[in-house]
Order: sequence, then C-alpha cells, then structure tokens
Amino acid sequence: MDAQYFAEKTAEISRRIDGFLGDGLKLFVGSSFQTHSIPLLHIITSISKEIPVYFIDTGFHFPETLIYRDQIAELFGIEVINTRSVVCKSLQCDGDGNLYFASDPDHCCYLNKIQPLEPILIEKDVWINGIRADQSAQRKAMKPVIEGPFNTLRYHPMLHWTNKDIFYYRKLHNLPPHPLEEKGYLSIGCEPCTRKADPSGGERQGRWFGMKKTECGLHTDLVAKK
Ligand code: SF4
Repeated sequence: MDAQYFAEKTAEISRRIDGFLGDGLKLFVGSSFQTHSIPLLHIITSISKEIPVYFIDTGFHFPETLIYRDQIAELFGIEVINTRSVVCKSLQCDGDGNLYFASDPDHCCYLNKIQPLEPILIEKDVWINGIRADQSAQRKAMKPVIEGPFNTLRYHPMLHWTNKDIFYYRKLHNLPPHPLEEKGYLSIGCEPCTRKADPSGGERQGRWFGMKKTECGLHTDLVAKK
C-alpha cells in the first residue's frame, strides 16, 4: 500500500465528487471524528474545502472527541458545523427520571443523532459518510451510492476500504489518532454507550456492549425505504 495505491483510490472519489458537483448537487460530509473517520475527511477536504462538514453533537461525547474534532478542524483548515438535538436533556428522561440512553437507547439515538440530521438532509442532495463494509453485516450490504431519505443520495466512498487501508493511509499522511484509541477504544461513540473492546471481537464490539443494539440508526433508518 504505497502512495500510488491510495492515489488511485482517491482519484475515484474525486471523480465521483466532481460528477455530483457538475450536476449541481449540494453535498455535505458527516463525520463522527474517530480515528478511522479521518482519511475520508482528509480526502474530501483535499478535493474541496467548500463541502460542509457536519458533526452530530449528541451532548454525550467524550471530551477527548471534542478536543480531537477541534484539532482535526485546525489541521485541515476547515470549519466544522455542529448539529444538536432540539430536545433539551431534561426532557430526555423516562417516567423514572432516567435518561433515555439507559432505558430506551433507540429513542435516545433518534433524538440526538437522527433528528438533528434531518434538516440537513432536507436541505442537501448528497450525504457523504465513511461507513465501511468490514464494520458489520448491515454495512456490507450497502452499495457505494444509494438513495437516502428526503430525496438525497448517500455516498459511501470508504465502503470498500479495509481497516488496513485506513491504517496505512493515516500513516502515509501522518494523521493523528483519536486520543482514546491508545487506551483501547476501537470505535468511539457517545460516552455512556462506548467501552473498551477486545480487538478479536471486531471494531464495533465496544458499542452498546451487552445490548441488542449495534447501530444508532443513521445507517439503518436513514436509508430510503423501498
Ligand atoms: S449512542 Fe447512546 S448516548 Fe448516544 S445518542 Fe445513542 S443511546 Fe444516546
């Protein structure tokens, strides 16, 4: 995996982006600002700094994620747009006073991840996000470009990149890791729903550990329903 290998991969992404822009479509990138999100952001911002970058700020992120987001924004010379739930946290509790992430995590994800993205999807035409086929069976079933909700297209430029590709791309471009990665976190979402993971269990094993939940809904619910 040398510079030529990645030049071909990024040229394909660049061609696709040029095609969308040539068709007059409004693009945006969504990033969760984890270590493995950074190659996509590096590629997109190298193609154009005019494509807006959104971060869904659930209010439950690790402080390290917010610091990393700001560090990457400065490094890439971009402005990150934070989008948040319109429902304040005091109204995100069940009848017993527990925050929904403890009693109804699907609803918590709906309020804090899906709903905040909806106005952006209504306004834009193409949602660029960094899901990879090797992350889960659901993601493996995706295609690089599919229909999304609200008449959008979902574009998944990293779909066929592997974990190894991500590692070597970062190495080639000297891109810093999320500070929690060296502490054993392989996939980092909201603090209450993320724990350290055993690498043998897969990248996303530490998310919603012990629950019957593997996705927040962004890549399952926000797909055009046939
Ligand atoms: S990942 Fe957890 S804390 Fe974050 S929105 Fe979903 S349920 Fe809530």
